[in-house]
Amino acid sequence: MEKTLRFDSLLVHGGLEAGPAGATSVPIVQSSSFAYKSAEELEDVFRGRAVGQVYTRIGNPTTESLERRLALLDGGVAAIATASGMAAITTAVLTILRAGDEILSSSSLFGGTFSLFRDTLSNYGITARFVNPLDLEAVRAGVNERTRLLFVETIGNPKLDVPDIPALAAIAHEAGLPLMVDATVTTPYLANGAALGADIVIHSTSKYINGSGTSIGGVIIDRGSFDWDSPAFPHFEQFHKKYRAFAFSARARKLVHKDVGACAAPMNSFLLTEGIQTLALRMDRHCENALKLARFLSNHNKVSWVNYPGLEDSPQHEVASRLYGGRYGGLLTFGTGDKASAFRVINGLRLAKNLANIGDAKTLVIHPASTICCDYSPEEKGLMGVTEDLIRVSVGIEDGEDIVEDFKRALDGL
Ligand SMILES: *Cc1c(COP(=O)(O)O)cnc(C)c1O
Repeated sequence: MEKTLRFDSLLVHGGLEAGPAGATSVPIVQSSSFAYKSAEELEDVFRGRAVGQVYTRIGNPTTESLERRLALLDGGVAAIATASGMAAITTAVLTILRAGDEILSSSSLFGGTFSLFRDTLSNYGITARFVNPLDLEAVRAGVNERTRLLFVETIGNPKLDVPDIPALAAIAHEAGLPLMVDATVTTPYLANGAALGADIVIHSTSKYINGSGTSIGGVIIDRGSFDWDSPAFPHFEQFHKKYRAFAFSARARKLVHKDVGACAAPMNSFLLTEGIQTLALRMDRHCENALKLARFLSNHNKVSWVNYPGLEDSPQHEVASRLYGGRYGGLLTFGTGDKASAFRVINGLRLAKNLANIGDAKTLVIHPASTICCDYSPEEKGLMGVTEDLIRVSVGIEDGEDIVEDFKRALDGL
């Protein structure tokens, strides 16, 4: 049945099997391990001769149900749910790269990813080179003989630049590299991994996929599209021989995910499976409200600038319209000239919460320069587009008029 279902129906039914006693929600299998009647049966599962669960760090029925749904939504052959978005990126990157290898990465990144690439992985011999993802010539020129991965965000958080992902996929594939895309900000609803031409898709499921800010999670989706049978990836040889299109997800699950141990908790997988059902409805409202707020802010005399790909005069508008079907996401940024006025606006808001998250049903704001980016140098803040006056808004699904009124009140008070 899943083969014929459309996207919005897969959000509700994808990957779900009937639970005990006709339960229609996925059962929460809150068990660390799974018992077998005979030593022979358990040996068969360990050796891959029989399918079965062993230990929740490696796999769990509640999590597996979520993974099946997420794989279907992004046009993947397999998915691995992880403890967080950062765990998903770490696990996926460590599956591909070895000491001496390089990542060619977009310079417009979520702060945690930037720090992972620049500070943590560099201690283990993995180097990241950063390049402006909008400059396709610079991306092409950035590939060298050590490059093993091209990494980019669909819409950069918080820069809100919109790279041409299919064009980047073509550059990666010409160079024999996989393209890994962090699609947290766009979700599979605006455009899925298959439509974008990504080989591996990452989501921080803590954000829109959860939708209510109730738990942290991440997912790695393997589209099975990259040919790992290449001298650049000798460590994939055995996996490619045995698992073919599943080579990446097999190496990730059987080796790196198992060893790193950043598994999803069954309760969180349950919350995500419930939350994702309403993704399409919520994203439509997030996008509608964000456009409404962006238009209001553009016309307010206390606002110096607004960045939202949905505004017709945004330099990102054309690419965003082409890739994301006339929807531009729930994030926008704006400035009022300096840090002091940005703080006054944030302190004047009543509805919007001041916190470090995005993708919640509630409207959220943060001043990145003094919080999530406070450790970065002025040059690094510049690369990420974080100015001293920038306020990031994750526009929620409240009544759009209430959101606009909240910002109007705060701005009129300046
Ligand atoms: C939040 C976020 C992450 C990290 O996800 P966590 O679940 O917080 O670990 C990665 N990428 C983007 C674009 C994000 O917004």
